[in-house]
Amino acid sequence: MLTIMLVVIYGLFGLVIGSFLNVVILRRGARGIGGRSGCLSCGAPLLWFDLLPVVSWIALRGRCRSCGSRISLQYPLVEASTAVLFACIGVSDLSIPMQIVSLGIIALLVLITVYDLRHTIIPDGWSYTFAFLAFISASSFALGGGMIGIVTLLLAGPLCALPLFFLWLISRGKWMGLGDAKLALGIGFLLGPWSGLFAVFFGFVIGAVISVCILLPYSYLRARCGITRFGGSSAGFTMKSEVPFGPFLVASTLVVWFMMIYGLPIPFFNI
Ligand SMILES: [Zn+2]
Repeated sequence: MLTIMLVVIYGLFGLVIGSFLNVVILRRGARGIGGRSGCLSCGAPLLWFDLLPVVSWIALRGRCRSCGSRISLQYPLVEASTAVLFACIGVSDLSIPMQIVSLGIIALLVLITVYDLRHTIIPDGWSYTFAFLAFISASSFALGGGMIGIVTLLLAGPLCALPLFFLWLISRGKWMGLGDAKLALGIGFLLGPWSGLFAVFFGFVIGAVISVCILLPYSYLRARCGITRFGGSSAGFTMKSEVPFGPFLVASTLVVWFMMIYGLPIPFFNI
């Protein structure tokens, strides 16, 4: 019974925060957070019942009430995933202060994922805030481990960022953005050195496999039929500009992190 209540409370809170995250992603660099929301196509102001997370999008069948233009599936997806992830924290055994830090970490990881998918760039401020919260979240464990625990924690972030930094360096940014290395800094702090490296490696593998699955059929189609509309004729389709690695890193980090939170064994590494 308590579990159901926690899922409902944290889930509803996640819906509200997810709705806010959508606004942050949309308006970053454009204008401030304040002001009323309007349709991106016709500018018609949104009424309060158009702003209910997930529900409004389904009720409107993903179209603007005034002009009928499509409303991105991003909105309900971000709201629903934030709700699910918040609920997963809510039912964990983490203390309340740790839960609050964890909710902040989730909000940042959702922001980073969606922004990287849309713009193939990760804002530095978000990566560093994530690294800071991850450091806070891990330091309570590290303090219990004495001097070794503290040194391990301090080294974990740079250790996980290093492989991605070198990939960025030797490819001059072609294979990997520097933003991915900055993201890996927080992953190291959050998960510790071995689980962190495992998450980075695992994210890299998923990313590489999926990139190839997207790239190969695309190159084939382009060679065969002269299709250019996916990447634009001049822009082409390169690893750097078209396939963001941030979302893969975040996905593997969330899997490893939740396994640690729920006390499940992590394959290969366990620290
Ligand atoms: Zn409209």
